[in-house]
Amino acid sequence: MNQAIPIDLSLDASWILPVAPRGKIFNDCSLLIKGSEIVAIQPWGEVDEHYCVKKHIDLSGKLLMPGLINCHGHAAMTLLRGYADDLALDTWLNEHIWPAESRWVNEEFVEDGTRLAIAEMQLSGTTCFSDMYFFPEIAASTAHDCGMRTQIVFPVFDFPNNWSKDADDGFHKGLTLRDTYRSQELISVGFGPHAPYTVNDDVLQRIATYAEELQAPVQIHLHESADEIEKSMQQFGMRPIQRLQELGLLSPLTQCVHMTQVDAAIDIPLLKENGAHVIHCPQSNMKLASGHCPVQQILAEEINIALGTDGAASNNDLDLFCELQTAALLAKFTSNDPAALQAMSALEMATINGAKAIGQEDRLGSLEPGKQADIIAIDLSNIASQPVYSPVSQLVYTASGSRVSHSWIAGHAVVDNGKLCRIQEQELLTAASKWQARLK
Ligand SMILES: [Zn+2]
Repeated sequence: MNQAIPIDLSLDASWILPVAPRGKIFNDCSLLIKGSEIVAIQPWGEVDEHYCVKKHIDLSGKLLMPGLINCHGHAAMTLLRGYADDLALDTWLNEHIWPAESRWVNEEFVEDGTRLAIAEMQLSGTTCFSDMYFFPEIAASTAHDCGMRTQIVFPVFDFPNNWSKDADDGFHKGLTLRDTYRSQELISVGFGPHAPYTVNDDVLQRIATYAEELQAPVQIHLHESADEIEKSMQQFGMRPIQRLQELGLLSPLTQCVHMTQVDAAIDIPLLKENGAHVIHCPQSNMKLASGHCPVQQILAEEINIALGTDGAASNNDLDLFCELQTAALLAKFTSNDPAALQAMSALEMATINGAKAIGQEDRLGSLEPGKQADIIAIDLSNIASQPVYSPVSQLVYTASGSRVSHSWIAGHAVVDNGKLCRIQEQELLTAASKWQARLK
């Protein structure tokens, strides 16, 4: 007689959207989890025949899908949400955000702001985020406390800032952080050269060498505005992406954030030939009127493109469902083509493409046996989701993160029936009002 296979958790849902294989939807099935991993997807009636399940969770009326991956942000900037709006990128950064940061940003700010960001992301379906900010060791320990999966890219600037004296100091602290988390499942650490206009050639070249040696990810703001391209042409006689390529910093480890200024003849072949990834942040680009990333052209060339919210000071929320809806609508609007960025492609950008961008597609981004149990449940039983002809359509064109009812990261619950499991909500509110009073 066959021994029943032991299972920790069976999530019994009305729909399961695994993302891979593409377009597949399971109806009335259970997702089985053991430890931190997905074991199988089985029809409801067959689970107890073959498996010995410790706990079933009834998720009828709900859809399971991979947790969303927010590939670009500055988590602690939630404390600057609504601090300066309706300004151009240059004015917004130079006259408002950077002065406020240099006065206020310290370890306490980063801990409180990062926790607030993680709470908002967990409640709206994000199970993994990328963070580029000062005091990355505090962001890493806060994420670890909250059971959140994170790619930390430690910031590198030429000039002194609240966290590092110069690029060397940043390298030293950042590489120590990478060592600290080397064997931690949830935290990965890479390089975050801020932008081509804040980091010199020598430092960019050193990052390329280190990243290659360590096989560590590199994330950089790139081609965010027309002004950035113009200044690079004046100073270096080439576009910023050409400069990165010359310095050896364009590779499958590179995550290019924004790419709103794209020359189809120069930039797209460079991205493609070097296997670099694009991180699209449509709401931040729209709010700062920076331009728009040509998502359709990039997808047509089979360049990997993922999604990010950017910081809450330029978005102003961290809801990746809102972001993927914006991405779909903006792609249609800017290409004058209603078939551009179809719903399933928008969902892929926020899941499997995000996993590819951060180099973790073997573990994250889809609900397949052997992958990490990073899973969210979305309630499709509410009025605004009815009727459900197509769950994928509901997820992209009507959904917002507020419909996320449950979330698990590495098999551990972080949201249960709309409530945070690892974070005290009252503490978040107290911290937010403390900073509001200080910054006013
Ligand atoms: Zn950014």
